[in-house]
Amino acid sequence: MSTDHIDKTPLAANRSAASFLAVGLGWAIGAGFIEGAGLLLFQRINWARWGPMMHVSPEIIWTSPIVDIIIFLIVALICYIAARVAPGLPAMQALVFLLTFLTIYDWLTVTSRLYHRACLLLAFGVAVAFTRWCGKKENSLLQFWRKATPLIVTAWVIVFAAIQGGSWLREQSAAAKLPTAPANAPNVLVIVVDTLRADHVSSYGYSRSTTPNLDRLAQQGVSFENAISTCSWSLPSHVSLLTGRYQFEHGVGAVQPEPWLGWGSKGLGGFPTLGEALEKRGYRTGAFSANRTYFSRDLGFGRGFLHFEDYFHSPSDAFVRTLYGREFARIYLKRSEHSLVKRMLRKLGLTSLLDQDAEGSGSYGGAFGVRKRADVINQEVTTWIERDRQRPFFAFLNYFDVHDPYGAPRDYPRPSWPRQTDIDAYDDGVKYVDDYIGRLMDDLRRRGLTNNTLVVITSDHGESLGQHHLRTHGKALYRELIRVPLLIWYPGHVPTGVSVPRPVTNAAIPATVMDLIGAGPSPASSSLSALWQIGGVPDWPHPLSELAHNAISDKEDQLAKTLVPTASTGAMRSLVTSQWQFITHETMGDQLYDWTLDPTESNNLTQRAEGRAAAGNLKARMNDMVKTRK
Ligand SMILES: [Zn+2]
Repeated sequence: MSTDHIDKTPLAANRSAASFLAVGLGWAIGAGFIEGAGLLLFQRINWARWGPMMHVSPEIIWTSPIVDIIIFLIVALICYIAARVAPGLPAMQALVFLLTFLTIYDWLTVTSRLYHRACLLLAFGVAVAFTRWCGKKENSLLQFWRKATPLIVTAWVIVFAAIQGGSWLREQSAAAKLPTAPANAPNVLVIVVDTLRADHVSSYGYSRSTTPNLDRLAQQGVSFENAISTCSWSLPSHVSLLTGRYQFEHGVGAVQPEPWLGWGSKGLGGFPTLGEALEKRGYRTGAFSANRTYFSRDLGFGRGFLHFEDYFHSPSDAFVRTLYGREFARIYLKRSEHSLVKRMLRKLGLTSLLDQDAEGSGSYGGAFGVRKRADVINQEVTTWIERDRQRPFFAFLNYFDVHDPYGAPRDYPRPSWPRQTDIDAYDDGVKYVDDYIGRLMDDLRRRGLTNNTLVVITSDHGESLGQHHLRTHGKALYRELIRVPLLIWYPGHVPTGVSVPRPVTNAAIPATVMDLIGAGPSPASSSLSALWQIGGVPDWPHPLSELAHNAISDKEDQLAKTLVPTASTGAMRSLVTSQWQFITHETMGDQLYDWTLDPTESNNLTQRAEGRAAAGNLKARMNDMVKTRK
């Protein structure tokens, strides 16, 4: 069939800068929209691999096109220059070929299930076929893009406004519906320093001066010497910190698939959250998360927060969440510090791209995410606080600087200890985050907020730094994995310099906060305030920790599980008393340690007569507790 009737545009017009721009721009935005939607879709389909994944929220639909625009327009510019320099070259055909190749490769990698080489080969084949098909239709193709590109650009503007403006409007209208807060209601600030084990905090007896700011807050408030987290990894523990419920109640022992229409009230086991309780009392509520793998809106934590900041905190963060950003990170950011790309990025001041996060598939052959540091969390929370000073606020912060990969930012001043071991690097992260907690408190003081703010500081779990043949966390429930700091600072309302030795669960934080702001008792648990009042109380529930069976095991796990019972062979539970830690494993039996005499828990007493009796007693109490608590 002849195509003469549409080939009437002079060749010069086809080779104008406007033509190359229209094709490059429209094509990039179209490809980016589909990439963004695909990433959102496949995040849900691939939810079972949630840990080794980069995560996205609807912002990806307008950020992906931006990256594609930059890349596709560079390609279009090169083709345009080629057309000018050598008019005989089929430059427009070359552009069609390259953009098809880039688009198909991009879309194929959305699934995270195909080999990169297979994607490259398939994209090449499709690009050849499509370019051939387009061969004689150059004019109609250009007419199409000249009409379509302005519409696609308009669509991008509408999508951007709908996503960004929509979340702003939702927050404004929810805030407008809040009831009036009681007069002088205090602000509430809950700080979770992810992965901070208590024995690396100086005021908890650590030999290094890692935490001068936490130490000062401890002197001015109450600290719990034996605070125990409900789990040894982030997700179940954060659910407990916000609902006051144990894992056997909330049931979130692992990532669950996200409902297609959003979590609604179903997330977090359906239990009411501290945020919701405070909203009912007229509080503005905001969460600021640097743990974007397990404390995010995608996992249901948005309920009870009018404002939630997790992903897309910076251009670097937005970039590595797009597919070309992931490719760049996978290929170039894993190279050594001496590589040309890394040296260039450092020279250009793009250092945030080089600050690796645990998020992403970096440990599994893919790309590491970029870290959200404490300075960004501080900036986010203070900006949000300043936006409305009429109402009291509830801010819930997760700092991720202590989590692996260990260490403070590269340009942060070195502490006095050497940097040789994992422990040194871990302590660097502790020192850095402590510094920024100090800076946040100074900032709040300057804004006149410290006179009427209740501050609670804790962690979601500890960390194995080689103890019990383990690294990181989430594999067992030993003391280093569940003993966390717990500080309550509220001048004039809680005593100063009091240290409570009794083991407590930090899932009591919601009940304690509600009690301290004068909102009465909570259905989930008892307020810890009884423990610092004169005389204390004779009996207090022993803190429970739980860890679900976790099938994902790395090489180190394979070795560790032959030496100690780990979650890779079954679920575990632990109970801590003033003398004992009892641990029971689904298939590997029981362990009992006298942590007062054996703080490193190296001597399992279940084979001794007195140990057997205590273990039997504690097992019965644990079973009772799990049966009776509702
Ligand atoms: Zn964590």
